[in-house]
Amino acid sequence: MTARIYCFANQKGGVAKTTTAVNLGAYLAASGRRVLLVDTDPQSNATTSLGINPRTLSISLYDVLIDGRPAQDALTLTAWMNLDLLPASTDLAGAEVEMAGMMARERLLARSLASVSNKYDYIFIDEPPSLGLLTINGLTAATHGVIIPVQCEYLALEGLSLLLNTIRQVREILNDRLVIAGVVLTMYDARTNLGQEVVEDVRRFFPNEVYQTIIPRNVRLSEAPSHGQTILSYAPMSAGAMAYQALAQEFLQRVEGVHTTISPSSQQRV
Ligand code: ADP
Ligand code: MG
Repeated sequence: MTARIYCFANQKGGVAKTTTAVNLGAYLAASGRRVLLVDTDPQSNATTSLGINPRTLSISLYDVLIDGRPAQDALTLTAWMNLDLLPASTDLAGAEVEMAGMMARERLLARSLASVSNKYDYIFIDEPPSLGLLTINGLTAATHGVIIPVQCEYLALEGLSLLLNTIRQVREILNDRLVIAGVVLTMYDARTNLGQEVVEDVRRFFPNEVYQTIIPRNVRLSEAPSHGQTILSYAPMSAGAMAYQALAQEFLQRVEGVHTTISPSSQQRV
């Protein structure tokens, strides 16, 4: 068995790509799936969100992509069972320029992940807020599709046509399996009418892709990363946790066709 690989993409920053990849991944890990999170953002938010300090890493995604080190050597355990990390460090910021001159530069990540794919059920690639080579590498590596987080705010759909164009091009040229596997509405604020309008707009635009589960704006979700925690370990009873748990259950229903109730116990490794 090889992992189902998904990437989380939207060139807009701050729409909850990282929050969604990390917390959906955490709940899948809690359900017993073996999950690898790949941090392709030079800002290393996914890495720090999982309690790993990018400055203390001796090897990271940069070395894998640019120096051809085996992905296996860069795999990092987190504090949670079934949840591993392929971490990013700041040197990744220079990777796009260096990759530009390399052979098969769009497929570097896909090739690296192939060698560890049999160790996992799911590999989640957290993408940077751009449509550059790192994002293209993620889209090319995604065997099971791209998940697009969309923030419930004014002009939410603005700019998405650029992303959709990129997805179309990658599908034509690099990865004919690339589908839009899901759209996740994030940071919903029930107190505004605007939120509801955006939900309707996005559902009209992506009638089949949008997840029923909507992630509310929740302060616990924004606090957890600074403690190096997932929402499941930081505030498992919060509205944000409940939402990501529901999203994970909906995800498993969609992908595996199974109804699962994920209990938030016994994830801590030690
Ligand atoms: P991206 O990866 O798309 O740039 P992030 O996941 O880093 O976005 O989220 C942007 C910021 O918003 C982060 O500070 C994060 O903690 C916060 N955040 C994400 N989702 C929520 C939410 N549902 N409620 C409140 N804050 C959130
Ligand atoms: Mg991010």
